[in-house]
Amino acid sequence: KAKHIAIYGKGGIGKSTTTSNISASLAEAGYRVIQIGCDPKSDSTNVLRGNEYLPTVLDSMRDGSKVHLEDISRLGFGGVLCIESGGPVPGVGCAGRGINAAVTLLQELHLFDEFKPDFVLYDVLGDVVCGGFAVPIRDGITDRAYVVSSSDFMAIYAANNLFKAISKYAPTGGAKLGGVIGNGLSAAYSQGIIDDFAKRTGAGVTGYIPRSLTVSQSELYGKTVIEASPESEHAGLYRELAKKVSENEDLVIPNPLAAADLRSWAKDWGDKIFKLELGVVEGREGI
Ligand code: ATP
Ligand code: MG
Repeated sequence: KAKHIAIYGKGGIGKSTTTSNISASLAEAGYRVIQIGCDPKSDSTNVLRGNEYLPTVLDSMRDGSKVHLEDISRLGFGGVLCIESGGPVPGVGCAGRGINAAVTLLQELHLFDEFKPDFVLYDVLGDVVCGGFAVPIRDGITDRAYVVSSSDFMAIYAANNLFKAISKYAPTGGAKLGGVIGNGLSAAYSQGIIDDFAKRTGAGVTGYIPRSLTVSQSELYGKTVIEASPESEHAGLYRELAKKVSENEDLVIPNPLAAADLRSWAKDWGDKIFKLELGVVEGREGI
């Protein structure tokens, strides 16, 4: 039976990069994988397909004609089946509703029965987790969600919002949390911030991906790191992450922090880092 996995995170935090590299790693390991971009921008699967855009499910449905699987899906690197749900014209309608329409259509087309995937990954924009964007974790579409986060406050804020949605819906059949994926980490204390947030909310940390030029260079070629730089350190990190995500059955209902607690927690860290950096500067002056 296929595992359906949602990957959330703040805008621009690295969801699509991380999801695509997990998909590529799983495909390389011999699994059948579908990646569904649930983002109105519709660029989730670009690095699996040489940076080419794909007709979206919503666009194909819009002109009223019957939609075939061939119209809305393409095979990407390693045979990953790529799909983009698409979204409404900017400024009109709810972006989240598109996700629902797309998933319903894919079920009607018997995609999952025919392709027989081992893994289906949903790359979901999750800044606010409005009702629409919560669809993949709310309506039994996925049973597990991961959140990509850096150590920046807004990224953690978005992760905390996802935890709120999970703790609301999980008791009635919604998805549980697989863990936090730390991404784009550069400062020495970044990992500590993510660890501390995870500890306080009862979430696990699934892996850390440091900031790297290998990642941004690969993107420019329209490739995952797995394809562009298979021997690199980062390819190894993504394979390790994919293995953990694919095998993890330790799913939890996290305890999100209340807004005021999150603020004061972040402020404490801010003070700590300020002192730390001040210490570094003073130390340098002493030399
Ligand atoms: P959006 O919300 O816009 O869909 P996203 O969360 O999907 O964004 P990505 O598109 O995956 O984010 O990444 C944003 C940018 O950050 C890209 O240019 C990507 O190459 C870069 N990036 C992501 N992760 C890393 C990393 N670990 N090191 C360096 N660059 C990274
Ligand atoms: Mg994206």
